[in-house]
Amino acid sequence: MKQVHNFNAGPCVLPRAAVEKTAQALLDLNGSGMSLMEISHRSKDFEAINNECIALWKELLGIPEGYHVLFLGGGASLQFCMLPYNLLGKKAAYVESGVWAKKAIKEAKFFGEVSVIASSSDKNFSYYPAIPAIPGDVDYLHITTNNTIYGTEFHGSIDSSPVPVVADMSSDIMSRPVDVSKYGVIYGGAQKNVGPAGVTFVIVKEALLGKVQRAIPTMLDYRTHVAEKSLFNTPPVVAIYAMCETLRWIKAQGGLQAIAKLNRQKAEALYSYLDNESKMFVGTADKASRSLMNICFVMTEKYKDKEEEFMSAAKAAGMVGIKGHRSVGGFRASTYNALPLASVQALVGCMREFEAKFA
Ligand code: PMP
Repeated sequence: MKQVHNFNAGPCVLPRAAVEKTAQALLDLNGSGMSLMEISHRSKDFEAINNECIALWKELLGIPEGYHVLFLGGGASLQFCMLPYNLLGKKAAYVESGVWAKKAIKEAKFFGEVSVIASSSDKNFSYYPAIPAIPGDVDYLHITTNNTIYGTEFHGSIDSSPVPVVADMSSDIMSRPVDVSKYGVIYGGAQKNVGPAGVTFVIVKEALLGKVQRAIPTMLDYRTHVAEKSLFNTPPVVAIYAMCETLRWIKAQGGLQAIAKLNRQKAEALYSYLDNESKMFVGTADKASRSLMNICFVMTEKYKDKEEEFMSAAKAAGMVGIKGHRSVGGFRASTYNALPLASVQALVGCMREFEAKFA
């Protein structure tokens, strides 16, 4: 197989072991003579996978009693609406830290009043805005912990009690330990750190459910999925299987402490090149807000016309997915859990070599 360095922003690189085990199960699940795609979602085999996957979520994140782990469809984008459907009675507070947060805000407005209590739109979302005191009259505070497009991440700790915090953790879930007890809901699409596209995780605190007055359609009511252990309708069986294998791999690496250490090393390798060595490339995110998952950089004014040439050189050296999102430009290296440190070192090597040609 061709060797590449996969910096895609999501879907993205997955642990090789998870890909191989899923590929095997697609051919023959546990010697059953059937593909993973051919079994019933009500079978013992799938029940075991579903249960193990829930147990791994609970174990790896240390999820306390009183929370449920749900696997749903529709992506994080459906949660932008499902969440306020279930939780927004009158008013909610939102932090506008990027495009995904803006999309969440837009959907919440269908259900009630939205107060945007902090925003970094004034500087094209290049920093994580400080979160002020949370108004007492809101049903929840919504934050996006990692802004995939702009490469900023929430590094603070949060305690907004009695107001529950709700977080879109699509792009930094399972990249580091999180104190789940500080959150009311955590959700995201799986397709970065925890699996392939097609499954959405929702960790929800039981005590928050059933408080809004409105009627909620069955499929959009969290209580349906809590009651049915995410088996109310046919779940994305293959994606859940691959997620389970991905979580097994995280556990085998030593869990989230060990994963976080490796993620810090990877980010440090690239940021320190940008900060201490490079005259050609510069990071776009404010230093205090830098993401450990998505590292955005551009060429300095003097070398701006070299961006395309660098892109070709990087491609030739096996780098995949480093084109920056159009709203930031330049480059973005996503360094999710399964990306090896060697890939970051290869990218830095490639940048260094390119730079040496013009220095
Ligand atoms: N939130 C964030 C932070 C994201 O990065 C993304 C996707 N990149 C989304 C939400 C949307 O996720 P989905 O495509 O699963 O709807």
